[in-house]
This record gives sequence, C-alpha cells and structure tokens, in this order.
Amino acid sequence: MRHPTCDLLPNTRTMKIGVLALQGAFREHIEMLRGMNVNAIEVRLPEQLRDIDGLIIPGGESTTIGKIATQYGLIEPIREMAAQGKPIWGTCAGMIVLAKDVGMKQPLVGVMDVKVKRNAFGRQVDSFETDLEIPEIKNGDATPFHAIFIRAPLLESVGKNVQVLAKLDNGAIVAARQDNLLVTSFHPELTHDARFHNYFLRMAKDDD
Ligand code: GLN
Repeated sequence: MRHPTCDLLPNTRTMKIGVLALQGAFREHIEMLRGMNVNAIEVRLPEQLRDIDGLIIPGGESTTIGKIATQYGLIEPIREMAAQGKPIWGTCAGMIVLAKDVGMKQPLVGVMDVKVKRNAFGRQVDSFETDLEIPEIKNGDATPFHAIFIRAPLLESVGKNVQVLAKLDNGAIVAARQDNLLVTSFHPELTHDARFHNYFLRMAKDDD
C-alpha cells in the first residue's frame, strides 16, 4: 500500500532501518516502512545493528523486551548506537525501554532523560484513540494525527534537553524528542498515517 506522505521523502531506497523484533508489534512497523520504500529489517542480533541508519523499538511488553534484549546481548550495543547519534524511536513499550527512569526495576536501555509512568491510564481507559495536534510532524499536511493508545505509558517529566512534541488535553506528555532519540506513547504503526515514520526517516537522513 502506498502512503500519502511518501512523496515528501528524499530517496528512501538508500535507507536501512532496523526494527527490534523480539516481541510485540514489530511487523506493523516493518510493513509501514516497506510501504515507504525503506529497506526495513528485523533485528534480533547485535551484529544486525551495525549497518542500519536507525532503529525502532516497538510496542509490546517492556519487561519482556528488556529481558530478551539482555539475553541476546543487545542492550549495550543499542546504548552505543544512541551515544553515536543514530536515530532510535521507541513506541509505547519502546518508550519505556529507552527511558532513564520508569519508577521500578526492570532491564532498560535507559538513555533518554525522561521519567515514564507505565500503564498510566488505568483500567477504564486501558485503550483509547484520540486526535493530536503535532506541529513538528505535519510536513504540509494540516490534519491532526490519529493516535492509538494501548495500555500506554506517559511521560511524567522530561529533562531540559527534551523537546515535547505532543500532549493530551489534560497536559500529559505523549511524544518527545531528545536529539537522536524519539518516543511516542501511542502506535503510529497501527494507522495508515506515515507522518511519524516520515519524521523519523528525516531524523535518520539529517544524521548523514
Ligand atoms: N503496558 C506495556 C508495558 O508497560 C506497554 C503497552 C504497549 O506497548 N502497547 O510494557
């Protein structure tokens, strides 16, 4: 399927993006990226991190992703990627895995100056969808971004070097960027709107 924002991208065929494929919604990211002509690969081994232009850590269950990543020796190489300035995007559980502080003990990459609250929306609103105004990702398309939240975390606080990209009406921070690190509480890969993926690919391009 062709996504409406494809045309706004520079030559995506030359880009190789890895999606951490240990658990969770990695296939949806891969499909979205392939629909944008990106060479998208499933990452399970440290050596697969070597020649990619960016990495996505998908939604799923953050404790499970962290434990498997530890067993496969992926935590330290992902930290190195982050330190080298390679773009890394965490969606939902991926946001938790990238955070420095999640208020509990679990295996984390732990590179972004944010404090996360897991399962922040309680039982009644366990999962919900809402439209968000996100100026940074608009790229000529003024429609709001339809965001899908599934047992989602939110950002309780962010460091001063972190740019807030999106908030809910109640002020909760649900998307943010710190240099080469991007996090979203919600799941752009479950929509047909490629603007967030497009934004991430532009981060990866700028890094050339
Ligand atoms: N609730 C999950 C966690 O804490 C995240 C949910 C998701 O990724 N959709 O890990």
